[in-house]
Amino acid sequence: MKSHTRVAVIGGGVVGCSVLYHLTKLGWTDVTLIERSELTSGSTWHAAGGFHTLNADTNMAALQGYTIRLYKELEEITGMSCGLHHVGGLTLATTPERMDYLKAERAKHRYMGLDTEIVGPEEIRKLSPITNIDGVIGALFDPLDGHLDPSGTTHAYAKAAKMAGAEIILRNPVLELNPQADGSWEVVTQEGTTTADHVVNAGGLWAREVGQMAGVYIPLHPMEHQYLITEDTPEVYELDKELPHVMDPEGESYLRQEGRGICIGFYEQNCDAWAEKGTPFDFGHELLNNNLERIGDALEFSCKRFPVLERSGIKTVINGPFTFAPDGNPLVGPVPGLKNFWSACGVMAGFSQGGGVGLTLAEWMVEGEPSRDVFAMDVSRFGDWITPGYTRAKVRENYQRRFSVSYPNEELPVARPQQTTPAYGIWKEQRAVFGAGYGMEAVNYFAAEGEPLEETPSFRRSNAFDAIGAECRVVREAVGINEVHNFGKYRITGPGARNWLDRIMAGRIPKPGRLALNPMLSPKGKLIGDFTVSCLSETEFMATASYHMQANHTRWFEKNMPGDGSVKIENISAKRLGFQIAGPKARDLLQRVAFDDVSADNFKFLDVKEMDVGTCRAIIQRVSYTGDLGFEIYVPAEDQVALYNILSNAGADLGLKPFGMRAMMSLRLEKSFGSWGREFRPDYFPAETGIDRFLTYKKDADFIGKAAAIKEKEDGPQRKLCTFVVDAADADVWGDEPIWHEDKVVGFVTSGGYAHYVQKSVAYGFLPVDLVREGLEVEIEILGFLRKARLYTAPLFDPKSSRMLG
Ligand SMILES: Cc1cc2nc3c(=O)[nH]c(=O)nc-3n(C[C@H](O)[C@H](O)[C@H](O)COP(=O)(O)OP(=O)(O)OC[C@H]3O[C@@H](n4cnc5c(N)ncnc54)[C@H](O)[C@@H]3O)c2cc1C
Repeated sequence: MKSHTRVAVIGGGVVGCSVLYHLTKLGWTDVTLIERSELTSGSTWHAAGGFHTLNADTNMAALQGYTIRLYKELEEITGMSCGLHHVGGLTLATTPERMDYLKAERAKHRYMGLDTEIVGPEEIRKLSPITNIDGVIGALFDPLDGHLDPSGTTHAYAKAAKMAGAEIILRNPVLELNPQADGSWEVVTQEGTTTADHVVNAGGLWAREVGQMAGVYIPLHPMEHQYLITEDTPEVYELDKELPHVMDPEGESYLRQEGRGICIGFYEQNCDAWAEKGTPFDFGHELLNNNLERIGDALEFSCKRFPVLERSGIKTVINGPFTFAPDGNPLVGPVPGLKNFWSACGVMAGFSQGGGVGLTLAEWMVEGEPSRDVFAMDVSRFGDWITPGYTRAKVRENYQRRFSVSYPNEELPVARPQQTTPAYGIWKEQRAVFGAGYGMEAVNYFAAEGEPLEETPSFRRSNAFDAIGAECRVVREAVGINEVHNFGKYRITGPGARNWLDRIMAGRIPKPGRLALNPMLSPKGKLIGDFTVSCLSETEFMATASYHMQANHTRWFEKNMPGDGSVKIENISAKRLGFQIAGPKARDLLQRVAFDDVSADNFKFLDVKEMDVGTCRAIIQRVSYTGDLGFEIYVPAEDQVALYNILSNAGADLGLKPFGMRAMMSLRLEKSFGSWGREFRPDYFPAETGIDRFLTYKKDADFIGKAAAIKEKEDGPQRKLCTFVVDAADADVWGDEPIWHEDKVVGFVTSGGYAHYVQKSVAYGFLPVDLVREGLEVEIEILGFLRKARLYTAPLFDPKSSRMLG
């Protein structure tokens, strides 16, 4: 082993080998993979080897497509076989909801370049004659689906990396990881010590233990998983072509041909977590005991779906463990809180996702940022609030839901409530229906008396529709109150605070007493944050942004700290809580309880002031995402209930009522306000989204991403974010629907929904610039139907913003 390497990749499963290969592919060849035993010694060797593109997240699906197409490249480079069987795959639908889901996926695939199609029962029977189509409505067919040889593929990645100069060291466990003052790592192994500029944790089943060596908790947990291989079966081997894969969500099974027999695996409800206290160090090329009882019900169901199973003897049972993160997506990227320590763990579908994970991580390490928004698999999406108990509970829930339909309005029940604010009880008494994000409960809407305290999961308008409409009208016609706890909030202090903000943010850093909206850019000019920055004094600022981005933003702040101690950043998300009041009577309400004059002359739009509100000392910002006259009132967390009582007592006769996040998201639609993660995300550049109006291209500070942003502006964007009014039926857009014009897909939807106050179905989406004009007629595909839509260039409500500014 060399005394120094640029990167030490720990773990020689399919993921570690893919990372190694992609590092060499992007030009880093002084890289070393260190494997405890032989290659494939974790989950990899006993995988069923299936691959598919289906994933609820569009970018994850695209990376799965990349992975599958990569295998041919690997075979060509190495001359080795990955044992590819591109037989295609069917995902069956036996309920209208599942069919909706598959149609929505098919629609997305249109602009992703994936060639899937919806097929009917007869076509299913033709493609897979062993499938009993009783009760089957249809299926999604993906010609890219198939399976491969897990060991051959892993060795092909390894060989391709070695051919490019990488080193692979086998039978040598890493025992310790010691961070060095210069940001590098001392990697202590059984066979000696090496230093590495970067360490990648690709420890798979042992990723938790490798994380511990570096002093961090990696939120993943192994689950047991079983598949069976049958004896040779004439109904299979007598066919003149290989069977396609069949995923049967109702039966919680996936099936494919294995040689002359069948391979069928199950994601059963009665599932078992494995190695709760940690993965045994000496676990290796061995399997867990069979537990056919656990899959008994699923197997019985599958015998009806695939009657041939009743006649085929079982040849082999494989029961092995593999790891999941709480939401089932991988954990990739720089680990928050550590320098040069990278995660490539929690990959539950190594043969669908391993290539994309390797590519993403290599881009991040070599080029400084991934080429697309990978937040869905960013290790920073779980903050330091997460515990092993939470992970275990969620991983189990995720495993059980592997084949469930994921509805866009769905809130999953397990490990709830995890984090709440003092106002939680107040909302609960008022029949709040909650959602959770980043562990924190926030009100989605308030259910009317007699209505269930639960929103029905659906792709269509749900049972919450009327309640949300009523909340929107309160805001537009009187005054609404909503909690402002689900912002990430940062207090930035010190003599260097202004200069630092000027560099990290692309907008204007406001003067004392003012606030400004501030996009944050990556060095390549992509949107990586969307902040409100308020200046409380020359040495004290508050920055707020999306709650769920806290670990992500903090990681970026820490990476870009000046190092001279002139700036201090404190995450005050849990410490500073409060409410926003919004609507035409918001000022009247505030004036009743505020110590100072809050008239329009004295408290202008985008002002920030410290003042007493009743008995509370508050920081008040005049801004509202509802697009109405509004104020955000922040107090110390301990005073939140007092502030609520002050506002609600004073506002009763003004018609004050609470509203939830669903109403807020509806209100922003009629103002054409974008939201983080949909209209604004690292896939997009400022000028194409319209957020460039908050960029200060000419400011003196050399803000991060400045050169790239100026270039984008000068070149002119190729596409533009637009607002559409859709001639919808009972389903509005959610995001990712294709936009058609003259029988061609020309763009895609970013988000949308029903704008209750203006009573219109709204969609935001990108179109090529040459098509953008007021009144353009397009069609948007919603659940398989092409719905007429019309482009609007001005907001639908209060286009001059006289309410917000007045
Ligand atoms: C029964 C079963 C069926 C499956 N079927 C499929 C399927 O059809 N399709 C699919 O895509 N996925 C499938 N999977 C999942 C797939 O196996 C995993 O996604 C994949 O193997 C994960 O690979 P990995 O490299 O992350 O981890 P692992 O394969 O666990 O590799 C980690 C490696 O790190 C090494 N290591 C750990 N600690 C150290 C250390 N301290 N020092 C040095 N080396 C270390 C280990 O020895 C091991 O080789 C299946 C899993 C199971 C259990």
